[in-house]
Amino acid sequence: MLKGKTAVVTGGTRGIGFAIVKKYLENGANVAIAGSRQESVDKAMEKLSDYQDRVMGIWPDLCSPEEVAAAFGAVKEKFGSIDILANNAGISSRTSLYEYTVEEFSKILDINVKAVFVCSQAAARIMKDQGGGVIINTSSMVGEYGQPSGCGYPASKFAVNGLTKSLARELAKDQIRVNAVAPGVTRTDMVAVLPQDMVERISAGIPLGRMGEPLDIANAYLYLASDLASYVTGVTLRVDGAAMT
Ligand code: NAD
Repeated sequence: MLKGKTAVVTGGTRGIGFAIVKKYLENGANVAIAGSRQESVDKAMEKLSDYQDRVMGIWPDLCSPEEVAAAFGAVKEKFGSIDILANNAGISSRTSLYEYTVEEFSKILDINVKAVFVCSQAAARIMKDQGGGVIINTSSMVGEYGQPSGCGYPASKFAVNGLTKSLARELAKDQIRVNAVAPGVTRTDMVAVLPQDMVERISAGIPLGRMGEPLDIANAYLYLASDLASYVTGVTLRVDGAAMT
């Protein structure tokens, strides 16, 4: 479904991002894995030796326009284009408002929102020159409902939804589609840090009766990146088993 296309996946070293990387490779794309450190990128690439001609690693500071532009330039140089950007890197928080520091709040907005802006800008400049492309952002179900602690996390995902809708409208004239995927509770390291009783309580309340798997989310990323979604832009697609909170 993606033969001949090139994708950049931020936070592609593990969890949902790694599942997206694999799904895109299986469907014929070239993929650049953007991670926070060379060691984690190298470790992820070791697991993808079957695809070594179609995968590369980059580790720019995702909030630095200069570093991101240089890294995306290297991807274009190697593979000839950037057709798909998956803005997936993210961190979460459960800190109570009473303990939340300005530094922690700023950090979550940097990685979850500013990096989406910086990477989208760098990719859109390349995509516009190519005649089009696709940007897909990882939101969250808490970007619809909020959550009872860690307010910076849902605030960041509401912002991601706002960027998605706005950039979809702004970039449509350049044939760049912009969508988001809003996962429910998904079995990754991000969930592994939650108390077990909280995970069980959340899972029991999911109408489809189970937690999401990274593959469930990657399948939505494949659809939105593909030509099957050629008239879909500005949406946040919920992939959450109909969870309500
Ligand atoms: P994870 O912790 O397993 O993976 C997060 C990824 O982001 C890692 O690859 C990590 O290296 C990367 N990352 C974090 N900070 C970075 C930085 N400064 N620079 C570059 N990369 C950085 O978590 P995950 O569950 O796979 O999360 C992926 C995305 O899905 C996040 O945006 C998260 O908010 C979202 N999400 C997850 C869930 C869930 O239940 N797991 C639910 C909704 C949304």
